[in-house]
Amino acid sequence: MVQRFSSRAIAFARARRAARDWVDSYRPSGKPYPAICRQCGAAEWQGTWRWEPAPPDLPRVLCPACERIRDGAAAHVLELRGELPRWWQEVRGMIDTVERAEMAEHPLERVMPVTTHEDYVLVPTTGMHVARRIVAAIVRRFRRQVQVRFDDHCTTIEWL
Ligand SMILES: [Zn+2]
Repeated sequence: MVQRFSSRAIAFARARRAARDWVDSYRPSGKPYPAICRQCGAAEWQGTWRWEPAPPDLPRVLCPACERIRDGAAAHVLELRGELPRWWQEVRGMIDTVERAEMAEHPLERVMPVTTHEDYVLVPTTGMHVARRIVAAIVRRFRRQVQVRFDDHCTTIEWL
């Protein structure tokens, strides 16, 4: 018979958790879980954040996405520049559409408040996935009209 909660199994589970915490420092390490976010209502259940209704007695925490938004700490930033103004309304709509679709599946993938500056726009996100999907949507739509430069923390899209 397999002993599910052997000290070996528990050590492995802890190591997995520690590795995950290390990858994203905004995961609620050391906080109770399963848990529910008091801000947005997402629930952490079996290691993933979901929108499904959770048991009402879960501890109330702040999910990593809401924490990032509170701290203004983006996981990734899209910098849009160049001949963007003529397309901005359309691009803004695309960003909203992608965010809605991504967030429905992955509660931690969100677009933080967008800031428009003199000649560029910053679109910070709480996760890499939503950022990648926005870039992919823009490239699909504008193709050779844009030039994309990828960096660890920032992706620059320039309209030519
Ligand atoms: Zn939240």
